[in-house]
Amino acid sequence: MHHLIRERQSASDGDVDAEKAFFVADLGNVWLQHMKWKRCLPRVQPFYAIKCNPDPYVLRLLASLGAGFDCASYGEISRVLSIGVEPSRIIFANPCKPVSFIRNASQLGVDMMTFDNVDELHKIARIHPTAQLVLRILTDDSKSVCRLGLKFGATLASVPLLLGTAKSLHLNVIGISFHVGSGCYDADAFMDAIGRAHIAFNIGRDIGYRFELLDIGGGFESRGFEETATIVDRALNEYFPVEEGVHIISEPGRFYVANAFSLATNVIARRPVLSKPGTADSADEDEASIMYYINDGVYGSFNCILFDHQIVHPYALTVNHQFNPGDNCAVANCSVWGPTCDGIDCVNSRVALPSGLKIGDWIGFGDMGAYTICAASQFNGFQESAVHYCSGTGERSRAVRRALKNYLLSK
Ligand code: PLP
Repeated sequence: MHHLIRERQSASDGDVDAEKAFFVADLGNVWLQHMKWKRCLPRVQPFYAIKCNPDPYVLRLLASLGAGFDCASYGEISRVLSIGVEPSRIIFANPCKPVSFIRNASQLGVDMMTFDNVDELHKIARIHPTAQLVLRILTDDSKSVCRLGLKFGATLASVPLLLGTAKSLHLNVIGISFHVGSGCYDADAFMDAIGRAHIAFNIGRDIGYRFELLDIGGGFESRGFEETATIVDRALNEYFPVEEGVHIISEPGRFYVANAFSLATNVIARRPVLSKPGTADSADEDEASIMYYINDGVYGSFNCILFDHQIVHPYALTVNHQFNPGDNCAVANCSVWGPTCDGIDCVNSRVALPSGLKIGDWIGFGDMGAYTICAASQFNGFQESAVHYCSGTGERSRAVRRALKNYLLSK
């Protein structure tokens, strides 16, 4: 093992590819999440929200497992159709769509789409009058990490007007959707939302619709999923009993991919923290004393820190170019920085890491699959980190660590 590392280290001197940051995607983990979903929410057909991570192998895997897809744009619809998914397995779940995208959807046979305002109804009546419409209602997202209700969702008070307008335009509204906000750890939010959807179903019936679809959106987290699912399942059985025959779908994103992707980054520079800016003081004891610079940052994969409120947890994959450095490796408060010239490019401002990391050592990050790669830019000319694939066996962190290690050793 040691000679392989030495080989890699000498190969990496000046070799751009050898030092590039990279993801390892454990597709086995995506499969396990799907199995967990089916076990815990057997009534709910997942339509994977591809915005979260449009990785081609994840899409193909989920397509082969029978999932549907939630698309936000024409680009996402094209991507899903290009892998052979039938248009009927797509919901165009963006309540405010450009006219040209509605036309494209119509031409491609994508009929299911959401709305939450009157103008959208008029656009759809003009361009795609045979669409199958789903009214997105507003629900309580106050406890979610990323709130979506500020932008989307019709209040229950506005539902009669919206459905009345749809009726007068001879539009086919087939059901109700909601999204409790992305990163929702509060199962009661789902329960409350399902209750509101039930009220909207009744309003629809009074207006002359017979809804057949309930879309319970995304927001599901892997942590605590079983408990959330138990409450969701109970609420579904209470408000939408099986014998009523309502088809229930959802739009999970991060649940499927967050913990399937890990990122390995290379230490490209390091500096001691000598003084605070503008003073001659040395750093306080509890402040970071070493600054590590790595080759991916907040303008790249770590955009999740800015856009998705994520906190990332670095760990040393190698110390002084060796795996398994032993227990007596000294640890210090460190800060971890991305590679661009911008001061905002800080990945973690204070974290305990081995103080002996050298240039060329590797720092790993778990849970990097959701809202990372999809929004990465090439600011300052840094390329996005590539993805390598494995299929671990489920013991997530161990499998991913093993995969990272195997990948490093095989190069
Ligand atoms: N559906 C819609 C309409 C969304 O906007 C989002 C996320 O923003 C999702 C689904 C996926 O949410 P999550 O990744 O929290 O499951």
